[in-house]
Amino acid sequence: MSATSHSPVFLHHNDLQQLLQILQHDGYTCIGPQVRDGVIHYDHIDTVEQLPRGYGQHQQPGHYQLEPAGHDRYFAWANGPQALKPWLFSPREALWQCQAGEDKLAFEQVAAEDDPLAVFGVRACDIAALYLHDKHFLQQTHRDPGYRSRRQNLLLVAVNCSHPAETCFCASTGDGPEVHYGHDLVLSELSEGFIVQAHTEKGLSILARLPAETASQSRIAAAQASSRAAAEQQGRRLPSQDLQAALFANLDHPRWEDIARRCLSCGNCTSVCPTCFCHREFDEPSLDGQTSTHYRQWDSCFNQGHSYIHGITLRAETRLRYRQWLTHKLGSWHQQYGRSGCVGCGRCISWCPVGIDLTAEASLICTGSEA
Ligand code: SF4
Ligand code: SF4
Repeated sequence: MSATSHSPVFLHHNDLQQLLQILQHDGYTCIGPQVRDGVIHYDHIDTVEQLPRGYGQHQQPGHYQLEPAGHDRYFAWANGPQALKPWLFSPREALWQCQAGEDKLAFEQVAAEDDPLAVFGVRACDIAALYLHDKHFLQQTHRDPGYRSRRQNLLLVAVNCSHPAETCFCASTGDGPEVHYGHDLVLSELSEGFIVQAHTEKGLSILARLPAETASQSRIAAAQASSRAAAEQQGRRLPSQDLQAALFANLDHPRWEDIARRCLSCGNCTSVCPTCFCHREFDEPSLDGQTSTHYRQWDSCFNQGHSYIHGITLRAETRLRYRQWLTHKLGSWHQQYGRSGCVGCGRCISWCPVGIDLTAEASLICTGSEA
């Protein structure tokens, strides 16, 4: 039997802990969603009791609020600010160290941690973002050893989104709300449990050990209807035209200046974006002058210093920085990576403190009217 051809099974809510225990037994460190500091955040989990069961949330431009869902599902919420990104592309990472010898310097790569990691509850948009990061960090000529090590040891238990936020638009980018690739297992939650399907041999081996029964046709149909409804609920979308051509034809559009009057250049949008990968690198020498460590740390194209080159700041104005972000994300990513750099997660809309909405701005600049 191939991993993709098995019959879907049904797992009762009460048996979800067994799935976690199988992952732990197989040696995975488990990461899952939980409530922390008023948001849903991914961190280490030992028990399904830590999952945000019964929670929902309300999101709109510049707004995120957790609230009771009114039922006891585990995954009746859309993504919080944190993506899969920090687990693969660390916010700060030592890349190499240099040691002073008697007559020469010795350079040594800092070994990447390679413990197997299982992420529980990952959504379709974040898997699409992961595949974009693969294109960036695993390019033929410049493979990133730390990213590659973590990526090879990653297992994904995905969840089909059933409760998108008002800011989500993954259906319009073709990246969700249903998971179609990149996962080992995928769960579709119903009121009394989950439809579970495996996508890889690893997933199939886990599924074979679950106390699950063959899923009935009515439950499979209910899960499919839930995914369809989640797509239909999404009110936002990106314009459907060739955005690369439209954005570059409008580099002098007055809307860039209008956005700059509202934009704080805070970089929140790039921090929460699952596909942004801008970073800077720097060295930290020890006080005794014997060693130096070279670090990579997240940066943002909204930071003025990010475009500083040889005495010139190329994008000194907020107008130029926002324009760089949007034209890269929705335009020149196509040349670089063969697709748009936006997976429709909506995070940059919810977490922008002044509620700037890239779907509305792209639409105004490219079509002359709001989406
Ligand atoms: S640009 Fe915004 S909506 Fe698109 S992937 Fe990034 S955070 Fe999500
Ligand atoms: S668009 Fe919003 S989140 Fe992004 S830098 Fe400007 S104010 Fe900050």
